[in-house]
Amino acid sequence: MDGDGAADARAAELAAALDAVRARIARAAAEAGRADVPELIVVTKTHPAADVARLARLGVRDVGENRDQEARPKAAEVAEALGADAPRWHFIGQLQTNKAKLVVRYASAVHSVDRVELADALSRAVVLRREREDGGADGVPNLECLVQVDVDPRSDDERPEGIGPRGGASPEDASAIAERIAAVEGLALRGLMCVAPRGLDAEESFRRLARLGRDLRAAHPEADRLSMGMSGDLEAAVRAGATHVRIGSDVLGARGAVG
Ligand SMILES: *Cc1c(COP(=O)(O)O)cnc(C)c1O
Repeated sequence: MDGDGAADARAAELAAALDAVRARIARAAAEAGRADVPELIVVTKTHPAADVARLARLGVRDVGENRDQEARPKAAEVAEALGADAPRWHFIGQLQTNKAKLVVRYASAVHSVDRVELADALSRAVVLRREREDGGADGVPNLECLVQVDVDPRSDDERPEGIGPRGGASPEDASAIAERIAAVEGLALRGLMCVAPRGLDAEESFRRLARLGRDLRAAHPEADRLSMGMSGDLEAAVRAGATHVRIGSDVLGARGAVG
């Protein structure tokens, strides 16, 4: 892995972009009258492990990835280079149940739990890992889980052409998924996540998630996270109460067609 040179132009570029994004988050929080500042998760998909290492040296503690195939080798490479200084990995993409065993080896959080079967698979995977590593809950902490909610109130017919499969559970299904996460071994229910649906007002969509979050917290006070806001809509998310924003391109630059 490169990135150790004193004249690392990429590190300087990332430092400047990171500063700008952090300033945007702080300004949005101040303008919204918030006493707290949301956490930044830098989404590193399509960018190499060397960039993750550079970000870690710049103080980034949390990174996000949306595909296991890409995240797994990257996390291994970063772990090898940085050891205990490696950032935490947040899994934020669609996840097949048969990948659960792989993801729990490197991820400390999954933001995209969108069905009960996935919660069950993640629980089994954490329990299995505890048995294998003989570490119990001390060695392998609970996996932090957020329920991904589809906050788009439009029916399939009302949605514009070309919007792919919706991400997330319906608000009606989300509470059953949350209850399952809270009930099973190895998982910690931490809150809700959404992606703003295209063609709708982002802030209104984020406020919808925030309302669902309030209802959830009434029964589960520890489920206090709202993961929402990307490069294009982070200010709207901060105004609506995001606790975690997931920023990719405004830190790392544009991605190719993938991702
Ligand atoms: C890629 C991605 C992001 C980051 O998007 P940017 O527009 O690059 O900031 C956030 N959340 C999810 C779920 C993503 O897949």
